[in-house]
Amino acid sequence: MRSLSAHDLLEVWEVGEDQHPLDRALTLLAVACPELTWDELAALSIGQRDARLLTLRERTSGPKLNGFAKCPRCAERLEFGMAAADLRVVAQPDAGEEAQELVMDGLVLRFRLPSSRDLAAVLDCQDPAAARNLLVQRCVIEASRDGVSVACSELPAEAITGLAQRMAECDPQAEVLLNLRCPACDHTWQALFDIVAFFWAELVTQAKRLLHEVHTLARAYGWREADILSMSARRRQFYLEMAIS
Ligand SMILES: [Zn+2]
Repeated sequence: MRSLSAHDLLEVWEVGEDQHPLDRALTLLAVACPELTWDELAALSIGQRDARLLTLRERTSGPKLNGFAKCPRCAERLEFGMAAADLRVVAQPDAGEEAQELVMDGLVLRFRLPSSRDLAAVLDCQDPAAARNLLVQRCVIEASRDGVSVACSELPAEAITGLAQRMAECDPQAEVLLNLRCPACDHTWQALFDIVAFFWAELVTQAKRLLHEVHTLARAYGWREADILSMSARRRQFYLEMAIS
């Protein structure tokens, strides 16, 4: 995996602005991992996808991430730094395997972990329970009791709940929780760290800043966009300072 160049960044921003976050995540990875096809990227489990996005963010902008949150009790806005290493969850040994197995109440369930494609398929579900049921059904490869196969539609509710839980355990990078404490009122809470939303918000800011830089330099020197973008950030910064002084 490589880092995103200034040129990549603008290209991803341009394509991703109109996309659903599920597709934005894949657009980012498609540029950084040209060795994988779109279908292969879409088949990664959400945890595998997020681990790659975290690595890409680290290679592109460094290991430090600046987070923001609002205290749910007193509405104080807090800013905090995070290290990419602290957001990386060590996957359980069996998480990389294609099919997993869960045995509960005499039921044997072989399943795979939900991917971007599975999440896209449940987007239109009316409520979270329906989405979870459909997700579980999509990911069950085989269900059987005493050697006799069981149809997915006949799985008891407890089996679906148990399976959803097991899927989350097998793919811990898919749900990273931050422990936060409000400096104003001392309230503590947990917030979900969403690498796609975080990365995208940062990328939008960077893309707009880059376009401003191109605008300023092109106007001052008459240079082409492609040439300005291919400069190192340091060199671009130096010219910018001279152009606006
Ligand atoms: Zn507070």
